[in-house]
Amino acid sequence: MTQALANLQFVQPEHRIFWSARTGGYHPLKSKLPRRFFVQYARAHQRPFPWRASDISSFQLLIAELLLVQTKAEDVVRIWRQLITRYPSAECLARARTRSLTTLLRPLGLQNQRTRALKTLSKAIVECFDGGLPRSITDLLSLPHIGLYVACAMACFGFGERVPVVDANVLRVLGRITGIDPGRELRRSPKVWKAAWGILPRNNCALHNYGVLDFAAEVCKAKSPLCQSCALNKVCAYARTREVVRDEDRATRRSSRAISSME
Ligand code: SF4
Repeated sequence: MTQALANLQFVQPEHRIFWSARTGGYHPLKSKLPRRFFVQYARAHQRPFPWRASDISSFQLLIAELLLVQTKAEDVVRIWRQLITRYPSAECLARARTRSLTTLLRPLGLQNQRTRALKTLSKAIVECFDGGLPRSITDLLSLPHIGLYVACAMACFGFGERVPVVDANVLRVLGRITGIDPGRELRRSPKVWKAAWGILPRNNCALHNYGVLDFAAEVCKAKSPLCQSCALNKVCAYARTREVVRDEDRATRRSSRAISSME
């Protein structure tokens, strides 16, 4: 690995926070959650996306993770299938005709940017890694258009590394459970990254990460989290605050009724 690559993790603030939050020790959130909660959640409710099958290649997984950035998973399925069928390797994608690729990607939007990104990345994989994907997060981050989320997703889901896979939705879940002020930029919050590392199980790390991602999409949604039926509502700071607000509302309504009946 070159010195430039070795230093890469210190260039971006999120990368520095990500690595420094990595602790092997005890984290208080772990003992608050039901045991292996997100692994159990994934076992019961995991969404069956085709890129989660065990027989897909790391390149096919990489394509899926790139298409998923800022795009709903349900929208990605059809285009991903077409893309990996037509371009099964980095070599094929690097040689793809720009117009054909843009046409294929158009239903997802941002087709010009996506085309440029996929071609640039594929060329870099061919030139720097002989067409195969590197396994380490640092090497993955050295490739163009691969950010921390995609690098961790590849390391965990593709190569079995024990790392948290954290996107904006996962940050939202961890921020709500721990009660970290959502007004701050969660991406730069060492506390939330420590929580992400701290709740990782020793085994079944991929299942755990799928569980957190799916829980964020299906239960702890951005706009209307299902707190009433959520198994974490007793330990979740956000749910407790909402409960307090509801109790206060009820108390205010009760006292208003009592005052008006006395008048
Ligand atoms: S209780 Fe509500 S805010 Fe807390 S984790 Fe569950 S759905 Fe999310």
